[in-house]
Amino acid sequence: MRQTAEIAAVLSQAREILIACHVNPDGDCLGSSLALAFALERRGRRVTVASADGVPEMYRFLPDSDRVVRSVDGRTFDAAVGMDCSDLSRLGALAPAMASARTIINIDHHLGNSGYGHLRLWDTRVSAVGELVYELIEALGEEVDEAMAACLLTAIVTDTGAFRYPNVTPHTLRLSALLMEKGPSPAEIIDHVYETRSPGAVRLLGMVLSRLVLTDGGAIAYASVTREMFRAAGAVPEDTAGIIAFLRSIRGVKVALLFEEGPTELRGSVRARGGARANVIAEALGGGGHAGAAGFSATGPLEEVIQQALERTRRELAEHVSAQALSVQD
Ligand code: 5GP
Ligand code: MN
Repeated sequence: MRQTAEIAAVLSQAREILIACHVNPDGDCLGSSLALAFALERRGRRVTVASADGVPEMYRFLPDSDRVVRSVDGRTFDAAVGMDCSDLSRLGALAPAMASARTIINIDHHLGNSGYGHLRLWDTRVSAVGELVYELIEALGEEVDEAMAACLLTAIVTDTGAFRYPNVTPHTLRLSALLMEKGPSPAEIIDHVYETRSPGAVRLLGMVLSRLVLTDGGAIAYASVTREMFRAAGAVPEDTAGIIAFLRSIRGVKVALLFEEGPTELRGSVRARGGARANVIAEALGGGGHAGAAGFSATGPLEEVIQQALERTRRELAEHVSAQALSVQD
């Protein structure tokens, strides 16, 4: 569903526009939101970019990242864009502001999108919503400048794991080349996102990896991050970024799971390959995402949630990963 022209028409008329990020915002969501805000402001629109969880340190290099607000305090908007959100609940505390906007616009690429909103720019084949926002900026008749290009290239770099995931298409690479020609350097973006860990984050990584569990003949790798580990490492919740990639990187692993004890709830991350679908596993636990990467929140005791996730993962492996693929082990 690509209502690009209709969305451009509505946004060109709207006076007050909200662009809202999902909870635990990532580079795709933040970069795409900021790029669209730049373009709309060029067209004389008033734009608020909001993220209930603020901007993680690793994304503060994005141009104008300090304009992102955490709350919109009961304001109402002519148009509101949910960016990279599969459903309204992913907006956290911003959901009521989105729901009360005159026109609700859904820009997303997740498989399980609920179809919310009056207008949709939804395509699961794009690597990042940044690809869709580029198209929308063109439809608005705006030229992509260096700042917008840096935002959109960050969106693509982060949602493709620096061009390593199977969601990269020829279009992704052509668009990335075009964005690079506007000035931003992929190497610099990759450096900001992946090479700026805090010492606490690296200590936490060591603790988590030393307690990794490999099961089901090496097809499933999982680990937990407890509140005690955060404390001992001197780490904060966003310091878990990237840990799950190490679990998935083990030879023979088809599904990697990471469980994190947060201040109020438990967060689960799922990564899958070789035919297994991460989104299906996450959906069974109340979350969602993509075939390769998905996540969920839970409230139950850690051990119970781990057992539920393992059960659903085993079913997914039995149904969608061939016995031959599962037996290729060392
Ligand atoms: P992560 O493991 O990095 O938090 O999330 C991986 C992917 O799953 C992201 O694309 C994210 O949008 C999606 N995702 C993570 N948590 C949830 C959740 O609680 N609900 C839904 N619907 N999607 C999620
Ligand atoms: Mn995305």
